[in-house]
Amino acid sequence: MANPTLLILPGDGIGPEVMAEVRKVVDWFGRNGRPFDVDEDLVGGCAYDAHGQAISDAAMERAQAADAVLLGAVGGPKWDKVPYDARPEAGLLRLRKDLELFANLRPAKCFDALADFSSLKRELVEGLDILIVRELTGGVYFGEPKQITDLGNGQKRAVDTQVYDTFEIERISAVAFELARLRDNRVCSMEKRNVMKSGLLWHDVVEATHAARFADVQLTHMLADAGGMQLVRAPKQFDVIVTDNLFGDMLSDVAAMLTGSLGMLPSASLGAPDPKTGRRKALYEPVHGSAPDIAGQGKANPIACVLSFAMALRYSFDAGAEADRLEAAVEKVLADGLRTADLVGPGGGATVSTSEMGDAIVAA
Ligand code: ATP
Ligand code: MG
Repeated sequence: MANPTLLILPGDGIGPEVMAEVRKVVDWFGRNGRPFDVDEDLVGGCAYDAHGQAISDAAMERAQAADAVLLGAVGGPKWDKVPYDARPEAGLLRLRKDLELFANLRPAKCFDALADFSSLKRELVEGLDILIVRELTGGVYFGEPKQITDLGNGQKRAVDTQVYDTFEIERISAVAFELARLRDNRVCSMEKRNVMKSGLLWHDVVEATHAARFADVQLTHMLADAGGMQLVRAPKQFDVIVTDNLFGDMLSDVAAMLTGSLGMLPSASLGAPDPKTGRRKALYEPVHGSAPDIAGQGKANPIACVLSFAMALRYSFDAGAEADRLEAAVEKVLADGLRTADLVGPGGGATVSTSEMGDAIVAA
């Protein structure tokens, strides 16, 4: 059988620095019975410099063909003045749109060694491991009408429209239920059916999808405002949370702060399953950006990007045991006291470089 294919798009700023460490991990798996065919291409400002486009058509074709895409980060002050359609972020948006990545996965996992880094008390986050599944291509960010009208009497009216169709809710809830089966088998769906028609439909379609295909998964519902409160009051009650684009945007940022540094947070965006292979299009990337302030200094924390590859192992390559192994290696280096600069509090302490952190993870 052919090796699974991985397209790596390091991007700009610290993207190539953290991706170099992921390459070490990918190569380690290659030497230890899990080989990948790895291809590399440009995205973001570096692609604009090379082709005048934030992602070339050839790179898009490779992304379409790959089993998974792993992206570093895009953008930086160097490209502040490029035309809007060629700005670095346009490369990322084109990837999301052309691959139809409608499901955004944001895990919030608290590594024991970093529990004091959380904005909450240690006992609230110790052992925390939740996954927020956010709908990414529908809802109020895209619904029509979307406009500002001049009412003529010194008043203006702004309109955004929340639109969800049955199939959109069905497919995002199916992703949440499937992922729950790989975890603690529990899904909590969040909407505001008490004040929104789209919340009512959301609730009913999640219920119907559950009854038809996922009755083995435990399903609960929560109003999204109460959900935000519970996420801060007692986050460990959740396993998988599924919610719409707007609520997911907010709730995943709340969840991010439960765990500490931006340098620790991975993400995935998934598309529909291929009718022939059942495999989903997928893009994996750290939550952080290109961090131009620390680029080129060997200070970046590669863990968010390494954990993004762990998500790829789990969700694109049926390699849950290998993903566990990689996460355990990260856990171990943190427990051993290794810290990149972003993981050192105001009290200070010894730090390691980006490549020292990567080497330690590979050794572990
Ligand atoms: P974007 O708009 O691309 O999301 P941003 O300006 O919002 O970018 P980041 O580029 O993520 O944010 O950087 C925010 C801050 O966090 C910066 O000060 C940066 O140095 C720090 N930071 C981000 N990622 C890392 C990392 N992997 N390791 C260490 N520090 C990081
Ligand atoms: Mg940002």
